[in-house]
Amino acid sequence: MVDEIPNGAHHRLEVTQVEIKTSLVSDAGASRFRNACAALHQAMQLVLIDQCGLSAFPLRVILADDLTAEVQRDRDAAAEDPRPFCADRLGGTVMAKCLPPRPDDGLAVVVFDDTLWRDDTNEFALASGCARIAHEMAHCALSELRGGADRGGLSCGQTVGELAAREIVSEALEEYRADGIANALMAAIGEHVEEGDGERRRLRLHDIDGDEYSGRLLEVLNSEVYPGWRDRVQRYRDYATTFEEMFDGLSRSVWEVFVLVAHASAVARSAEQPDPLDALQDHPGVRLYLDDPWRGIRELGDEYPLLGTSAESVELEARALDSGVPAVMRTWERLGLTFRLQSSGNTHIHVAEPLFDADAS
Ligand SMILES: [Zn+2]
Repeated sequence: MVDEIPNGAHHRLEVTQVEIKTSLVSDAGASRFRNACAALHQAMQLVLIDQCGLSAFPLRVILADDLTAEVQRDRDAAAEDPRPFCADRLGGTVMAKCLPPRPDDGLAVVVFDDTLWRDDTNEFALASGCARIAHEMAHCALSELRGGADRGGLSCGQTVGELAAREIVSEALEEYRADGIANALMAAIGEHVEEGDGERRRLRLHDIDGDEYSGRLLEVLNSEVYPGWRDRVQRYRDYATTFEEMFDGLSRSVWEVFVLVAHASAVARSAEQPDPLDALQDHPGVRLYLDDPWRGIRELGDEYPLLGTSAESVELEARALDSGVPAVMRTWERLGLTFRLQSSGNTHIHVAEPLFDADAS
């Protein structure tokens, strides 16, 4: 497929490969899915070529009635991440998953849950489905900008606390950026008509997600974050669990909550609303653990263009890790956890009593 872009140069765009692995979507629904994927993939490639100086990227998408099984099958084949994939998150159920390019064909694969494509007539479901596709396209674009470099991931000379912190910071930044890009794509393809006066404006993520993420955030703060995180550490101090069990569960929970904060924040930004954490400053979980790291990540994310050059993207990610990892280490410390690298390369972990809120001021 050859397309002309405004500067007159011809660029070969990659065709989207679509696989339908569900019988719960009608032929019309499947063809809407194909069209939406092709249109958004094409738009994303043109932006990368035009604004970022990159070339087109190939993509295979799968629409599946069993997202978890499909992702797990691919993970087993690639043998890359030993952790089982789980679609249930604190922020809700995962509706799509972007898999890294396979070494054999270099093709990025995105698997979509078919739920949003089962209803043939619902316009809102169609917009939601397109927003999920736009979000996953954004992950693909960010990975193209990264140029195959990992996100400063596993290197030796780091404690297990720092490794967990790196994962938390880079994922929170990634989701915040992906939502920002998805919002721009949705604004380019959709329009919102105000009920009542019929005023038209560009579609934004907040029209689709509303206050769902920030509502969940409030629930999760109470059910999971405080006193939940400190209780996890305390149970280990009371000999009720092993360190590995405690820290695996805790870092998974912290990771999921930061990703939820990132989504809630990006959706609020799309409607020019303040960051949801601003209104939750009285919550001890926000004050003790979330506010400082998140503020740093968000400020850096806002400082850079949504889709700049590869160099800008790499610089943003490095700066986010430089300031974000120490901030998350302070969160660990408030939870009683300090990590020291030993000359053997192993981590020495000290577990003290976690802070109570009254101690925090
Ligand atoms: Zn995402």
